[in-house]
Amino acid sequence: MRVIAVANQKGGVGKTATVLNLGAALAEMGERVVLIDLDAQANLSAIAGVEEVELSTQDLLLSAEISLRDVVQSTRWDGLVVAPAESSLAGAEVQLADADRRQYRLRDKLTGLAEDAIVIVDTPPSLGFLTINALTAASEVLIPVQCAYLAMQGLRQLLRTIESVRERSNPDLSLLGVVLTMYDARTRHSDQVRERLREHFGERVFKSVIPRTVAFDYATVVAEPLVHFRRSSAAAEAYRKLAREVRKRAPES
Ligand code: ADP
Ligand code: MG
Repeated sequence: MRVIAVANQKGGVGKTATVLNLGAALAEMGERVVLIDLDAQANLSAIAGVEEVELSTQDLLLSAEISLRDVVQSTRWDGLVVAPAESSLAGAEVQLADADRRQYRLRDKLTGLAEDAIVIVDTPPSLGFLTINALTAASEVLIPVQCAYLAMQGLRQLLRTIESVRERSNPDLSLLGVVLTMYDARTRHSDQVRERLREHFGERVFKSVIPRTVAFDYATVVAEPLVHFRRSSAAAEAYRKLAREVRKRAPES
């Protein structure tokens, strides 16, 4: 089982879009994909088409009796299911602070999932207990970086957090890669960000770069992954290419 945490404490860099579209592209290739929404904004749940939430990831993290199976909902797409969040998840951050095994809560709930499942976890724009839970449960972390001025700011802090999770709760956590999002060929700093990332992360920078397009906003309105909404757009193809790279980078295969 692969568990991929998508993390960057900066908001608006394309985490949620990456979780949904990478997940949709992998499911399209025949993988069995479980999306987990750990952001109280619940954007992932909304765009995946969740309308009513009975049990959410907050229940999953806070109640010992509730299993992932109780929480996941099917989507309109084969092979793609989602564990939805609700806004009250923001309170879980505080409740977790005093709880037993507070950083292992998600990890404990993933045991028993199918060996061939790919779990992708969306995280909030912070490095609090929800993100720590995602990183502790993960086999790999994927970092989306927006092609923008100041995009590199905060990455050092994220890398430090990843290192501290390795030391404390998840020594096997590996860096799956860094993906550039919202790439705009018309601006010079898009390429500068790419160069800087290559210097720092080398081969860990994915070859696939996600272009900036307003189609993401239209896809959000109709609650569909862009991969399905604009099947043959450059951005949909970029997420498929990312999915192929992610499959190739599978650990121990
Ligand atoms: P995060 O989860 O990191 O906060 P989102 O995935 O929610 O970021 O993206 C922030 C906003 O940008 C959303 O409105 C989303 O639809 C939009 N967006 C995401 N990726 C792209 C892209 N490649 N091009 C244009 N807009 C994008
Ligand atoms: Mg998000």
